[in-house]
Amino acid sequence: MSGTPETTTDPTGFRPRVPAAQWDDWHWHMRKRITTAHKARQWIRLSPEEEKAIAGTAGKYRWSITPYYASLMDPDDPACPVRLQAVPAPGELAEFHGAETDPVGDTYYRRTNRVVHKYPDRVILLVTEACPVYCRHCTRKFHTTDVDGTYFRDDEGGSYDEDLRYIADHPEIRDVLLTGGDPLSYRDGKLEEIVSALRAIPSVEIIRIGSRFPVLLPQRITDELCAMLEQYHPVWLNTHFNHPKEITPEAAAAIDRLLRHGIPVGNQTVLLRGINDDVATMRRLMTELLRIRVRPYYLYHCDNVTGVSHFMTSVEKGWEIMEGLQGHITGFGVPQYVLTTKLGKIPVARPYFTRTTEGLLLRNHQGREMTVDPAVYPITETDAP
Ligand SMILES: *Cc1c(COP(=O)(O)O)cnc(C)c1O
Ligand code: SF4
Repeated sequence: MSGTPETTTDPTGFRPRVPAAQWDDWHWHMRKRITTAHKARQWIRLSPEEEKAIAGTAGKYRWSITPYYASLMDPDDPACPVRLQAVPAPGELAEFHGAETDPVGDTYYRRTNRVVHKYPDRVILLVTEACPVYCRHCTRKFHTTDVDGTYFRDDEGGSYDEDLRYIADHPEIRDVLLTGGDPLSYRDGKLEEIVSALRAIPSVEIIRIGSRFPVLLPQRITDELCAMLEQYHPVWLNTHFNHPKEITPEAAAAIDRLLRHGIPVGNQTVLLRGINDDVATMRRLMTELLRIRVRPYYLYHCDNVTGVSHFMTSVEKGWEIMEGLQGHITGFGVPQYVLTTKLGKIPVARPYFTRTTEGLLLRNHQGREMTVDPAVYPITETDAP
């Protein structure tokens, strides 16, 4: 693999030097995760606010940062978009109107210890609570990051029999999405047990994995892992890049390994205040994703989750961003902007048409408008040829 010791040093040279053999080994990063202010100070100059938040959130929210992800941080700028995603902040303890631990209703739709069945033909399987980095904006913050919280009804480590039986007993489920936490936190062998058991259910057509490892620790995406998953095709993977800084040579190499093993990769971005809430950053993110052959899938409006609300933008900001993408870059670089609710994911981008008495009023990416004559393009079925 291509990682070099230089990756982990900054011009001032105060960050640790790590031999390539260790830098390229995901187990090393998992063992060396940063979980104390003392360790964090080897990588970044913690601001007084960060120091205070680390102390203030102790015992309430977990934090953990892989050396790889820490190496992407600006050591001197507390507003660095990578830092904001991983280092605790005072906003996590502030109270916001309407914030809930589970605003999207995962626990309401949970049918077994791990199966959440919200849509007709697909389910999510919550395989773990563990993640290599605890993203401060996690939508399942209660499940993953809250020291006392979990969505599991029973033990994380318990038997999968009930979950698998539920899926097999509901043949309308043709799509199973492994999520968590991050399912790739598990070792390949454990993961293979789950994936092969799902593949043995005839009604399960596609298996999907939601994982942020390509962003937080791309070294985890080994050839061995990809070769294992390849045996259970069709397997898809969606990851979670939020900022162009995260698109590194290591991340690109991880994506390349997935694709070479036939695993298509999509991306789900969360719209986050101070991190990616401007058109220029989002345009760069989407076009850089295409360059590494990742297909933008969703742009999530930030959920009003307890401990996460300070990252929320307005929906208007989301519209501005979507309108800065649509038509300005290729259609397959434009994600769908959705608000996740207890009713499901609801597309909330502004439409490019309105129905008027004269026909369809259309606008383009430059704001120019035209009306399409219904005599030429009928709107109703009765007027259609
Ligand atoms: C997001 C989600 C899915 C998958 O939705 P897609 O739109 O198919 O990607 C499935 N189940 C639940 C509960 C979800 O939240
Ligand atoms: S990797 Fe995903 S599940 Fe884990 S903390 Fe980050 S956003 Fe949440």
